[in-house]
Amino acid sequence: MQRVVEIEKFESDSSIEFSLRPIEWSEYIGQEKIKKNLQVFIEASKKREEALDHILFFGPPGLGKTTLANLISIQMQSNIKTTAAPMIEKAGDLAALLTNIQEGDVLFIDEIHRLSPAVEEILYPAMEDFRLDIIIGSGPAAQSVKIDLPRFTLIGATTRAGMISNPLRDRFGMHFRMQFYNQDELASIIEQAAQKLGKPAKSESSVEIAKRSRGTPRVALRLLKRVRDFAEVANENEITLETTKYALNELGVNTLGFDEQDLKLLDLLLSAKGKPMGLSTIGAVLSEDEGTIEDVIEPYLIANGFIEKTARGRIATQKSYEYFRLQSQHDDTGGLFE
Ligand code: ADP
Repeated sequence: MQRVVEIEKFESDSSIEFSLRPIEWSEYIGQEKIKKNLQVFIEASKKREEALDHILFFGPPGLGKTTLANLISIQMQSNIKTTAAPMIEKAGDLAALLTNIQEGDVLFIDEIHRLSPAVEEILYPAMEDFRLDIIIGSGPAAQSVKIDLPRFTLIGATTRAGMISNPLRDRFGMHFRMQFYNQDELASIIEQAAQKLGKPAKSESSVEIAKRSRGTPRVALRLLKRVRDFAEVANENEITLETTKYALNELGVNTLGFDEQDLKLLDLLLSAKGKPMGLSTIGAVLSEDEGTIEDVIEPYLIANGFIEKTARGRIATQKSYEYFRLQSQHDDTGGLFE
């Protein structure tokens, strides 16, 4: 069967990112437990000649949720339709998507926690009984219409586990929480991508980029692309450590991969000297959306033990104090950049 990949929305994807996306399991590095489980479930459903059960991925942006959804559809030899919850405004939008899929297809909905309650209501019977119950028209002329759907697999992705409604969460047969990547995994991802981009990186260069990538493949690939530009201008056939360090410092990326927003948050919490700070205060001081702080900035700092969430708010940990004290003893930039 000819696979059809339909993309309703790829807001954050440049075409390069798309081309670097793994299309085989061997190219998808890390997340071993998730991969192993998925491989078993995919094989089982293929043996039974059934559509795969619905899958929900949780985790911060850039960790490979969309990539996994695409890999799954490739492995199932099925088509994939990709969209994001904010694109599905009305029940009719969802009905249009669902009536256009074929048996075994994958429907990928990113940011699924943002579906409206009206759309969620339509989704429940579609997921459970592969049936659409929609009302056409309004007032006394309104008619309830039931449409049978082919058996499909819904893959939902969300950065906010806590914001998904219980009834929706319960209708997914599999839940997977994505983990940040370790340095070795990120270095392999960078090496693989550098090869694909036609500018191989020395292994010490990949490790250097990996160290500064916030545990996130998307960040690693973004940095690699910029470092590659510097290597290009320096006429290097292979990206050297020297150019890598120079480029990363020029880009203002510090040794732990903290970006400007991370540093602002840490600076704020360190200046509070152990007093917990609430999310709304942090949002107001940093002029940053609370959702972005919770979904994008905090998870990496929490996972690495730099900040802690307490019942009364966020605090900087001893590790933060030590890291910044040590850094400031070694340079005169306040310890923020190497
Ligand atoms: P998410 O959907 O979680 O925001 P994506 O799936 O869009 O993240 O991943 C961002 C980019 O990082 C992708 O283009 C892909 O090339 C790369 N990537 C993500 N996870 C992996 C992985 N495990 N191995 C190799 N590359 C990865």
